[in-house]
Amino acid sequence: LLWRYRLMKLGTIEGGGTKFVVGVGDENGNIFERESFPTTTPEETMKKTIEFFKDKGVEAIGFGSFGPIDPDKTSPTYGNVTTTPKPGWSNHNVVKDLEEAFPGVPVGFDTDVNSACLGEVEFGAAKGLNSALYLTIGTGVGGGAVVEGNLVHGLLHPEMGHMKLITRPEDTYKGKCPYHGTCFEGLAAGPAIEERWGKSAKELPADHPAWDLEAYYIAQALCIYILTISPKKIILGGGVMHQKQLFPMIHKYVQEMLNGYVAKEEITTDKIKDYIVYPGLADNAGLCGGLALAKQALKNK
Ligand code: ADP
Ligand code: ZN
Repeated sequence: LLWRYRLMKLGTIEGGGTKFVVGVGDENGNIFERESFPTTTPEETMKKTIEFFKDKGVEAIGFGSFGPIDPDKTSPTYGNVTTTPKPGWSNHNVVKDLEEAFPGVPVGFDTDVNSACLGEVEFGAAKGLNSALYLTIGTGVGGGAVVEGNLVHGLLHPEMGHMKLITRPEDTYKGKCPYHGTCFEGLAAGPAIEERWGKSAKELPADHPAWDLEAYYIAQALCIYILTISPKKIILGGGVMHQKQLFPMIHKYVQEMLNGYVAKEEITTDKIKDYIVYPGLADNAGLCGGLALAKQALKNK
């Protein structure tokens, strides 16, 4: 039993716009306990979060947050949720809340999708790779990426769900994004599917034409990421991707659209089914991502 004492006790937070999931786990991606509550005001939500971790004795905490956020450690507003329309959260500093409650405990902080991407690299479908892309297609569309071993940030952080896509000629839907109309999220997130077809995505049968159109848009976006960041693995998560019949359709469209140009067998052959995949951690990608962020924060301490 001695080996048990060498395991780290790490805290993880999957901070979503709808709900928060908090948990305790270890550096191998095991989750020992978890709790979930709705996202209300920042004060109330962070108080519940802090109460959960109170007597847990975690060595570090990782926080994957809904956004946009400020993940730049050199910025005076590092740790903020920035321009969200969610009442009260705009400019609220969640990292400060945690650091004040748990002095000396390092906090890792990143976007929910960067966190999930790191989780998949550390423990999941991209384990052992230094390059991966993680996309969530759910209430919104977001992407996180590891490139040459590091999570991608920059001026802000990637917002991969808001690229304008070329609509299919027969698709006259105006798009759901208030900023861009027919961007990826505006065309393909759960609410867009629901508005276009008048039925929730969950209720559409597997052979409904909605899924062919959905695969077409997802593939179009994936081609852009393949051509820009050249990920070694693409992981597609989020509620919409529970529709597993999307995968072979996405594989086919990506091959057609790239038209042999990226001449790697991962793309041009049947191996594409191991290149564009469902999360290895299934619906635990977010929580495991927080563990990976916590682990990283401890290492960088
Ligand atoms: P969130 O993005 O809020 O974290 P989800 O990833 O679960 O949460 O995404 C919710 C969206 O995914 C909803 O719009 C819903 O319609 C859609 N969704 C959830 N489950 C399914 C399913 N089994 N099939 C298709 N769409 C689904
Ligand atoms: Zn948009």
